[in-house]
Amino acid sequence: MRPVVRLLPRVTHRVFSGHPWIFSSEIGAVEGAFSPGDIVEVRDPKGRFVCLGYINPESTITVRVLSREDRDIDEGFFKERVRRAVEYRHLLFGVKGSFGDEPGGYRLVFSEGDFLPGLVVDIFAGYVSFQTLTLGIDRWKETILDAIREYVNPKGIYERNDAPVRALEGMPLRAGYVGEPFDPLIEMDENGVTVLVDIQRGQKTGYFLDQSDNRLVVRKYLTGKTVLDAFSYSGGFGLSALVGGALNVHFLDASEAALDLAKAACDRNGFAEKASFECGNVFDVLRDYERKGLRFGAVLLDPPAFARSRKMVESALSGYKEINLRAMKVVKDGGILCTSSCSQHITPQEFDSMLEDAAKDARVTLRLIERRGQRSDHPILSGVPETEYLKFRMFQVLKA
Ligand code: SAH
Repeated sequence: MRPVVRLLPRVTHRVFSGHPWIFSSEIGAVEGAFSPGDIVEVRDPKGRFVCLGYINPESTITVRVLSREDRDIDEGFFKERVRRAVEYRHLLFGVKGSFGDEPGGYRLVFSEGDFLPGLVVDIFAGYVSFQTLTLGIDRWKETILDAIREYVNPKGIYERNDAPVRALEGMPLRAGYVGEPFDPLIEMDENGVTVLVDIQRGQKTGYFLDQSDNRLVVRKYLTGKTVLDAFSYSGGFGLSALVGGALNVHFLDASEAALDLAKAACDRNGFAEKASFECGNVFDVLRDYERKGLRFGAVLLDPPAFARSRKMVESALSGYKEINLRAMKVVKDGGILCTSSCSQHITPQEFDSMLEDAAKDARVTLRLIERRGQRSDHPILSGVPETEYLKFRMFQVLKA
């Protein structure tokens, strides 16, 4: 018998309409013995079946939903989920054979977006980098790896379970090769540019694939411009700008290691002459540029998530406003501002009204060119607004 989680009466449970999270405050009782990570059955206050999920009382999200159908949750279940996630990428990218032979980068599994909460699987030029971020999914790691080998046929596999969120779930941090080791510095194609992915020491799984389409979209607007790529990481945006004929790109990031990757990638693509690099804090550096009167034809802003919880939204918005306001000031009249937020806790509306505020204070008008989000291999689900986490806007900045 599976343990039963009974939902509290008089609460509007989002889970009824397909939301994948149940918080401890929504639970009346848990009937039956269980260990953290076990599969549980969720029932409504009248005792009717709602869904199946895994439980971890140590996490504020006590139950994460695996299925809305009453079925066996076993190895076959997880293998089917992985297969369906991979099939969806076949549909998106028109890939016929195995992703292990593809020169590009793809997110193959994105957690709740693929009904596999806690699991992230990226593939970079045939090499898989994965994370099992919750106890409930970590238990099925070997099954998931078998499925990846079967449906993806990767050249190699690397485990990036060194993410601090694992500690919150009561799990150890670990990273390393699964099976045969390989060169951890991977050359990958992205929209015709060679980018470098450090699968071992890079941030998160090694590269931010969610902005992939946006990097391509900005390209044609940056021809002939002097570009500031702020929060550049390994240079994805700036490299794309250079392919599109940008006059030059100044890469700015707080991480030396990230800039080393950006520099190596510029060299490999033959852009050494047009690229410059600066290690610093974007907040300080933009203030400094503003004071010195340094101006750019385009500024790209792609900061990390400033809001890690709903409580942090207000302070995060003031941080976003500050950098956007400064960016608007250092863009030339008629120049381009590309700005993003990947904070799941900040809604598209909050992001847009922050930008409007910043424009007002900077005394500029923003002409909207592109309003976009994450690439579709990071799925957005109906009934789950949290899945729409990436906001990307491109404006022409008008000062006259
Ligand atoms: N634009 C990148 C992704 C950026 S990720 C891409 O296309 O791949 C966010 C980056 O911001 C990280 O590289 C991190 O090192 C950097 N960062 C975080 N805080 C910063 C700060 N205050 N100033 C400069 N860089 C910062």
